Amino acid sequence: MSLLNNSDDLKELVEALNFKEKVERSKQLIKEAYARYGESLVVANSLGKDSVAVWDLAKKVEPKIRGFIVTTRYKPAETIKFMKNEVARYPELKVYKNEAPIPERLYESEPDKCCDILKVVPVKNAIEELHVKCWVTGLRCTEGRTRTDFKEVEERDKGLIKLNPILIWKEREVWQYLALNRVPVNPLYAEGYRSLGCAPCTKITNDDNERAGRWIGTSKCGGECGIHTRPLKTITKGKIISKDK
Ligand code: SF4
Repeated sequence: MSLLNNSDDLKELVEALNFKEKVERSKQLIKEAYARYGESLVVANSLGKDSVAVWDLAKKVEPKIRGFIVTTRYKPAETIKFMKNEVARYPELKVYKNEAPIPERLYESEPDKCCDILKVVPVKNAIEELHVKCWVTGLRCTEGRTRTDFKEVEERDKGLIKLNPILIWKEREVWQYLALNRVPVNPLYAEGYRSLGCAPCTKITNDDNERAGRWIGTSKCGGECGIHTRPLKTITKGKIISKDK
């Protein structure tokens, strides 16, 4: 049976599989999905540790696989520099950014709206423009309270498959993979961050929850920007999107 149709108990697999078995499973998921979706399979790369691990896995499975990055006007300078280096290494990574004017400090007054405009809209645009039928993400079910119920293969939007090939990896296993494969990572991790986002909404914490440093002090604390929870196939009206490198 194809791994794409599995109904395995993922919470059990988090503990049952060892590192090598998880890497093999992730590669097999990407391989089978690429065989099914070909060029319409695209990796979403947020420039965080999980994304660069998935990107590396995907490129090992099939070097032709394409990807996209969504950036915002609020990304830290270190992330922008890292992004430029990644795009120079992999020109098949397309960058999307929403330049539409928004109220100042919208991230404080209405963080959900800010994320919708600056993150969800460009993801929708990338999916539309790159003719994506299957997008590949670095989601992990042990990452925090909002990420426990995802599946390895999902169809939250009709006609758009989401593949989460490292869903059952632990944080330690991501670092293990990155170290063993010498994958470059965002230098902000060396400062103590464990989950990266826009500068005003990301803090260093020692909390057990890996995403606890995201949106601290707001109703979104430890939550989601919306790209994994909002519909992505709707047409975006009035979009002002740039592709910068
Ligand atoms: S993470 Fe913060 S600054 Fe970035 S889009 Fe979301 S609310 Fe806005």
